[in-house]
Amino acid sequence: MFADRVLSGMRPTGSLHLGHYHGVLKNWVRMQHEYECLFFVADWHALTTHYDTPQIIEQSVWDMVIDWLAAGVDPAHATLFIQSRVPEHAELHLLLSMITPLGWLERVPTYKDQQEKLTEKDLATYGFLGYPLLQSADILIYRATQVPVGEDQVPHIEFTREIARRFNHIYGREPGFEEKAQAAVKKLGGKKGRLYAELRTRFQEQGDDEALESAKALLDEQQSLSHGDRERLFGYLEGGGKMILSEPQAMLTAASKMPGLDGQKMSKSYNNTISLREDEAEVAKKIRTMPTDPARIRRTDAGEPDKCPVWQLHHVYSNDATKQWVQQGCRSAGIGCIECKQPVIDGVLAEQRPMRERAQLYLDDPGLVRNIIADGCEKARKLAQDTMRDVREVMGLEYK
Ligand code: SF4
Repeated sequence: MFADRVLSGMRPTGSLHLGHYHGVLKNWVRMQHEYECLFFVADWHALTTHYDTPQIIEQSVWDMVIDWLAAGVDPAHATLFIQSRVPEHAELHLLLSMITPLGWLERVPTYKDQQEKLTEKDLATYGFLGYPLLQSADILIYRATQVPVGEDQVPHIEFTREIARRFNHIYGREPGFEEKAQAAVKKLGGKKGRLYAELRTRFQEQGDDEALESAKALLDEQQSLSHGDRERLFGYLEGGGKMILSEPQAMLTAASKMPGLDGQKMSKSYNNTISLREDEAEVAKKIRTMPTDPARIRRTDAGEPDKCPVWQLHHVYSNDATKQWVQQGCRSAGIGCIECKQPVIDGVLAEQRPMRERAQLYLDDPGLVRNIIADGCEKARKLAQDTMRDVREVMGLEYK
């Protein structure tokens, strides 16, 4: 239950580009071999800002999943699913809303920030205010321990941790908790029980975080403990009641530095993107027509790579020898800009080639994608239902 589990989602609001590949998908591909990973299409999240253009969401869902698969996300290693196909997310969101102070949501930094940025949309909606809580439900329902986020999303994870703590504080108390926890310690057996007690004391008396982590690891290894006893022992470690919802950690990921065709960050809103599976001729055309150092008007003018957006793409796609060739050739007018752009074109096309090949398999047989998602939704739903059973029980909703 508490082994490392990573959860990450993406909103289906248009086709993915190389910025998504370098910023998110490469990371997913790596993580799927290191952790248990759950990757989901955040279609309800897309509706919080795109509620008036549902057709974009509908079109983007399957394309986005194909993009993931094309990038190397492997359903044999990660669970891929669609948020709205696991309705338990909505149930947990609703139940958590009962205990969420309004001020906590209003204080989330992205709330005001996004409202100010996206002025063309009316975001004074209940759904938009509540979207960090929906995110919390997404994370908590899978008892995810790690959530990859950029710096700007860290407050959302902190918010989720606060919600989990508040929930456990309100609903984790049970009559005779201390006695039940001690009985559970005995079930660990003499040697492990003593080790657990010693680690708990070290953490509680000396604030020794390593002892806390070792005790958690010890509990993770105990397959024979019942679900209730495990929750009690996790809660008992930190001095609280039962730990029904576990607090996730933010896994800080570096912001994508992928430059767009104009030198700004690659982003749909700047209209400077290359799609993940864009047609080869179109890729070549886009790069050939990219702006260069504005001082280099004629072929005979010397240029300065630091003032040229193409140079930034060389950083991503070229080896040291090519970069050296660009620096010298540009500054001495020894090479022309079209010549200089060719290695970038080759680099992008080489990166996209395996993606196009993988995608073709799914484009030829869309049933494969539907099956991958159906399997993923089933797996995700089982995990979500496990959590919801506990949540409903402690909230007094399991009527007999
Ligand atoms: S030679 Fe290359 S780096 Fe120099 S201005 Fe032209 S495209 Fe840019």
